[in-house]
Amino acid sequence: MSRIAFIGLGNMGGPMAANLAKAGHVLRVFDLVPAALEAAVAAGASAATSAADTLADAEVVISMLPASRHVEGLYLGEHGILEKIPAGALVIDCSTIAPASARKVAEAAAARGLQMLDAPVSGGTAGAAAGTLTFIVGGGAEALERARPFLQAMGKNIFHVGDSGAGQVAKLCNNMALGVIMAVTGEAIALGTAHGLDAKVLSQMMAVSTGRSWATEVCNPWPGVLENAPASRGYTGGFGNDLMLKDLGLAVEAAMGVGASIPLGELARNLYAMNSRAGNGKLDFSSVVKLVSEN
Ligand code: NAD
Repeated sequence: MSRIAFIGLGNMGGPMAANLAKAGHVLRVFDLVPAALEAAVAAGASAATSAADTLADAEVVISMLPASRHVEGLYLGEHGILEKIPAGALVIDCSTIAPASARKVAEAAAARGLQMLDAPVSGGTAGAAAGTLTFIVGGGAEALERARPFLQAMGKNIFHVGDSGAGQVAKLCNNMALGVIMAVTGEAIALGTAHGLDAKVLSQMMAVSTGRSWATEVCNPWPGVLENAPASRGYTGGFGNDLMLKDLGLAVEAAMGVGASIPLGELARNLYAMNSRAGNGKLDFSSVVKLVSEN
């Protein structure tokens, strides 16, 4: 069993840390939000008073933060922890951030002799709680072998997609597809219901037809269609609209970097920006359907 420093205990990090504790690892954790810290302690971790305070004797450091600026701030900022990480510890950042930020932090870690992976995840809050996440890993093969037992305690699929930053590129490709699919699924159901169709029957048909996707099968955007979907609990929990907006912005940035065309990705970024401006930024991203329906 290993000593793990875990920083960022939100919708995803909280259950991920709980699964590591359940697997028998010794966790010292930190989050800026006291309630998140308390929940992790209830799950078997010990609370640190700051990010730096998680590090004593840590063999593995894991972070799960919202965006690039938080990750760069945590490791490289004024009170950055990179300099304080014990020699030989493995660093794993599971946040979804810009590929360039992931490379920057990994290079700084390497300059200190530390191995670091970008390992963003897919699978949502349900996958984090069930320990069935998919890890999309960028970095060295040797570092991944060291990380594997920890990733396996939190997930069931691990893909090594390339060097530092590659995990983030692959994650952005996945989320761009997801953002477009969610928006168009909402539009399709809104069109059907405007013609008097029952949203549940329409969704059940689509879920076994060629329009099927994660949006029809797991996270249907229409309230009352799937009991466990965020739409059926006022779009709370799940994956925030503003996090999807962030990821689509990163996809646009990544496309510009290589001159790629992503017309639907750019359109989707605008839809989620409109949904955010409509006051739905903190709701689950499936609330984007509110732009085309009064449901
Ligand atoms: P969240 O906002 O629920 O959690 C982030 C946590 O980080 C918060 O509790 C916040 O207090 C904490 N935090 C921020 N800065 C900190 C700092 N300096 N020190 C300590 N704690 C700090 O976000 P989330 O939904 O858990 O998502 C985390 C990351 O995972 C994001 O990059 C997101 O894009 C990605 N992601 C989310 C989902 C999802 O379904 N929610 C799915 C896949 C990937």
